[in-house]
Amino acid sequence: SQKLGNRKTRAIYDPHMYEQWEEEMHSEMNFGKGLDMNEFRLFYQPQVESLTHKVTGVEALIRWQHPEKGLLMPGAFIDIAETTGFITQIGEWAVSQACRQLKSWEQQGLGSLTISVNISPRHFLHYYFPAFLNSCIEEYNINPANLIIEITENVAIEDSKVVELQIQKVQEMGFPISIDDFGTGYSAFIYLQRFSIQEVKIDRQFVSKIETDVKSRAIVRAILTLAKSLHMHTVAEGVETIGQLKRLEELGCFEIQGYYFSKPVPIEELNSWLLASPRFPFLYLPIETA
Ligand code: C2E
Ligand code: MG
Ligand code: MG
Ligand code: MG
Repeated sequence: SQKLGNRKTRAIYDPHMYEQWEEEMHSEMNFGKGLDMNEFRLFYQPQVESLTHKVTGVEALIRWQHPEKGLLMPGAFIDIAETTGFITQIGEWAVSQACRQLKSWEQQGLGSLTISVNISPRHFLHYYFPAFLNSCIEEYNINPANLIIEITENVAIEDSKVVELQIQKVQEMGFPISIDDFGTGYSAFIYLQRFSIQEVKIDRQFVSKIETDVKSRAIVRAILTLAKSLHMHTVAEGVETIGQLKRLEELGCFEIQGYYFSKPVPIEELNSWLLASPRFPFLYLPIETA
């Protein structure tokens, strides 16, 4: 808002003002109220199989329909939620919402679709996280294989024994684990050495330069080779062009996600799109049909 903008400008010259501004930002980010008032939304971005372009699942991406600020992207609030501890409640909300959606798809004959949810390190390492997931299996009666838990490598910077136990517990219940933004964190190889991970997601940083930069292409090829030897599934993120798509398909990436196929969309849009496709359950490229 205008008001905040002015304060921020002044705060640059006065550390005390900055602290005050920061405090106000925290209280303006009223996560508790946001949860109570049902202001959070999950948007869904399709993931398609290479070559066939069949939709296999979606990634759930959170947004906050804020009464004053409008639709907030996760970049505007996830870090603050993580610092203030609200990330646990937000994450539980997102997982529950995803479970409801899986159940509803199952009833509509779309039981093979998966949903990937992003879980922050703090939430993933929380002692209650495995028990929470277990309660979701019971409450929503979902097949855990359809709910993919996305974590980043940065989880492993924490106490590795705790990480190992959490990963084991989550996998023993049947939830696949996917490493998001693979290769951009601190500990990609250690991760793969210590744990059996089901999937890696190749970061957009590498994908976006795959056509123009030899190094990026070499890195993507290396990740795909490594994943294949370790029997891991692979998803490329941030695929925006047909050129990028073709390269990834040549290199044998399993799945593709990105604006080329679809932006993250509200559930109503996704569902009507899925069900309206004449080649159901195949997706038309929105670029071609638009
Ligand atoms: P992420 O999990 O790596 O998600 C991919 C991000 O890239 C999303 O941004 C998505 O909208 C965007 N994206 C997808 N395809 C393309 C493309 O072709 N081009 C470009 N330029 N961007 C693309 P978004 O939705 O803003 O989310 C940002 C990050 O916020 C996510 O990165 C994830 O780390 C975090 N996040 C999102 N939802 C949640 C959530 O429910 N819980 C937690 N803890 N974190 C979340
Ligand atoms: Mg998948
Ligand atoms: Mg993700
Ligand atoms: Mg990512």
